[in-house]
Amino acid sequence: MKRIGLIGGMSWESSIEYERIINEEVRRRLGGVHSADLIIRSFDFADIEELQTRNDWASAGLLLADAARTLTQAGAELLVLCTNSMHRVFDAIAGATSVPVLHIADATAAAISREGIETVGLLGTRYTMELPFYRERLEDLHGIRVQIPDDDERTVIHDVIYDELVRGIVRDESRARYLTIIENMIDRGCEGIIAGCTEIELLVQPHLVSVPYFATARLHAIAAVDAAF
Ligand code: GLU
Repeated sequence: MKRIGLIGGMSWESSIEYERIINEEVRRRLGGVHSADLIIRSFDFADIEELQTRNDWASAGLLLADAARTLTQAGAELLVLCTNSMHRVFDAIAGATSVPVLHIADATAAAISREGIETVGLLGTRYTMELPFYRERLEDLHGIRVQIPDDDERTVIHDVIYDELVRGIVRDESRARYLTIIENMIDRGCEGIIAGCTEIELLVQPHLVSVPYFATARLHAIAAVDAAF
């Protein structure tokens, strides 16, 4: 079993879920008292959020590339970046290490293909919904059609992530607002929904959604275990 390096803290509310899911999956596969071989670099999310707000992706890329080097030097044999939004700087990270870096959109696309569906709705931060890096990977590399919520809906989705979910606040009222937006997207033709922010699955679980629901943190964490074996 390979040693997995996690670049996390964006936010820790979801990277702690990566750690739990990966450990549970290793125990499920190996039994006994087995657990994962992990190294975690957990950022202060306030530093990352400031760079996002300033649109300073270059500095964010340098910071995360440095984390990739640190984890590789510490013996990580594959790396996982525990956030969708920061895949905006995936190339900087992948270019800083000789070990594989598993892209969260690839793990998600594989699950979408397994369901045999073509059009999905993408929920996430404004960066993930509006910038090309995530949608283009799904569309151009994997042939998946991606729709995003309308502008007012995107504001709700984004604000709940930053004002609540990354702060550990999970509110029924916000869950209801998300579910209304999800139903609107299904009415507009989405055959599945991507929870394209690693905290969204803390708010909305698959049993609440009437179409296939792709929980990116879980899919990415399981892909890491697959790659580790
Ligand atoms: N964890 C979130 C994501 O998956 C949002 C926080 C961030 O911007 O990294 O996009």
